[in-house]
This record gives sequence, C-alpha cells and structure tokens, in this order.
Amino acid sequence: MNSEMDYCPSCGGDVLDEASYCHSCGEKLEDFNTDSHDSSSEEKEDDQENEKLKELESLLQENPELYDTLTNIEQRIIDALGVNPNN
Ligand SMILES: [Zn+2]
Repeated sequence: MNSEMDYCPSCGGDVLDEASYCHSCGEKLEDFNTDSHDSSSEEKEDDQENEKLKELESLLQENPELYDTLTNIEQRIIDALGVNPNN
C-alpha cells in the first residue's frame, strides 16, 4: 500500500492522506482532503448562509421595527458610497 502521509494541522502528527480525522488528536481533516470533498463543503457554506438569512428573516418578522433600521442603514451606506441601486 502506497498511501501518502499527511500532517495534522492541529497536532502535527502523521495522518493518512485519506483519513477524515487525526488519530492522535481527533482534528477533522476534511478540508485537507482530495477534490471530491470540495463540492460538498461548498454546499455546506451555502446552507449556512441560507440559515443565516432565515434567522434574519424570522428576526425581522418578530421585530418589524428592525426593518426600518436596516433600511435606514442601507440608505446611509448607499449615500456614503454614492451608489444608486436603481441605476
Ligand atoms: Zn492531530
């Protein structure tokens, strides 16, 4: 068997290239691994962003007054940047 050895980013120990976790400290090694994992980790990031958006939406529904504040802040940013969203 010709498995390449890799190093744990957490403890520096030798780990198998295909290992998902460091056998020494238990550090997750997914990010280290091959291209096949890339698409799934991107999906996870999208999910996290959707979760944040849902949180924000429910927050706005529970606190409608926040919406005016957000709109005001948005308008100030637009004014400060000199950007016209309708342009
Ligand atoms: Zn480790």
